[in-house]
Amino acid sequence: MSKQFDKNLERYADLIVRVGLNLQKDQELLISAPISAYKFVRHVTAKAYDAGALNVLTDYYDEEIKKIRLEKSSEEGLKAFPHWKAKGFIEMAENNVAVLNLAAPNPSLLKDSDPTRVAILNKASAEAMKDFSTYIGGGKISWLIAAYPTIEWAQSVFPDLDQEASIEKLWDKIFYTTRTDQDNTVDLWERHIEELNKNARRLNEQGYKKLHYKAPGTDLSIEFDPQTKWISAQFTNDQNIPFVPNLPTEEVFTIPVKTGVNGVVTSTKPLNYSGTLIKNFSLTFKNGKVVDFSAEEGYETLKNLLETDEGSSYLGEVALVPHNSPISNTNIIFNNTLFDENASCHIALGRALSVCVENGKEMSPEQLRKVGFNESMIHVDFMIGSADLNIDGEKEDGSIESIFRNGDWV
Ligand code: ZN
Repeated sequence: MSKQFDKNLERYADLIVRVGLNLQKDQELLISAPISAYKFVRHVTAKAYDAGALNVLTDYYDEEIKKIRLEKSSEEGLKAFPHWKAKGFIEMAENNVAVLNLAAPNPSLLKDSDPTRVAILNKASAEAMKDFSTYIGGGKISWLIAAYPTIEWAQSVFPDLDQEASIEKLWDKIFYTTRTDQDNTVDLWERHIEELNKNARRLNEQGYKKLHYKAPGTDLSIEFDPQTKWISAQFTNDQNIPFVPNLPTEEVFTIPVKTGVNGVVTSTKPLNYSGTLIKNFSLTFKNGKVVDFSAEEGYETLKNLLETDEGSSYLGEVALVPHNSPISNTNIIFNNTLFDENASCHIALGRALSVCVENGKEMSPEQLRKVGFNESMIHVDFMIGSADLNIDGEKEDGSIESIFRNGDWV
């Protein structure tokens, strides 16, 4: 690889540690990554110790193992989750660990697996990790999802290229969208986050009580509680340290009133849900709940997703991303939510994010429910933005303002 590549990679590792995680002296770091990422993980590990990390732990996984397990394990076996692991995560969270997830799921990993068995496995791990997920959703500890291109992922994005060329091209896109192909990456990110925060502030000042979405296949209204707020993906953890949990990020987002979603919405990009692609799907909401749905591909997987628990058929996030933005302008479908959700307006099924509630971190589950907070074991984003999307905001006094026209901020 070229000198330029090494330089970009260096900046990317730096961005992860300094901006994404904002790792502090004497903090522990846990890196979860596919085994193929080991060289890059070593790189990040070195950066982390340079930043003063107390200890860097690695949690490598091999996606193929999941497929083998789904083929061969008994049904009881699929439900077994190592509780020492769930407990370990809680213990680390209590000690203010930072968590890096290098995400590169193979979108077609489980295309031949039995969706019912996949659902059993997913549910077991979601259930076991439920308590830990409140540390994530509440922004209590610093966490980050960043990308690492595996062969399987790169090939799904660029099927016409050979393996090496597809990986190289995907790295290029990662460097471009994370601004690590430029010298002043950290400054650029500070400015970018400030821009996103400005958009969030503007929305909060307008105090919309409802948004109305209109696009081909979409006619949806979403209600908000006055105690909820729009924010960018810059959180502050319980130690008051800011971090950016997604690299890249282009969104501002909030949470809806659980029972305040009505109408129909149609996806505009495929959703890779744990190894299966769900394509061209529509959901119909009544008083917040999905009451009808269809999908051209992945219907069973969508059905299982919606049936995970009570809250999985309600929304927990509403995010705005202009169609004219760096990731979107690459015109690439990444088959990876981290990228696709930051190229498109999106909403999420499942667990709401308490970081979007005024003083949400201090509120009890009962208090959170009063502002329309949805609870679920899952949180799954899917993309609904396009150049055809118009969004209107309705204020408390009933007046209507246009917010998005043809996919972009008005
Ligand atoms: Zn989002």
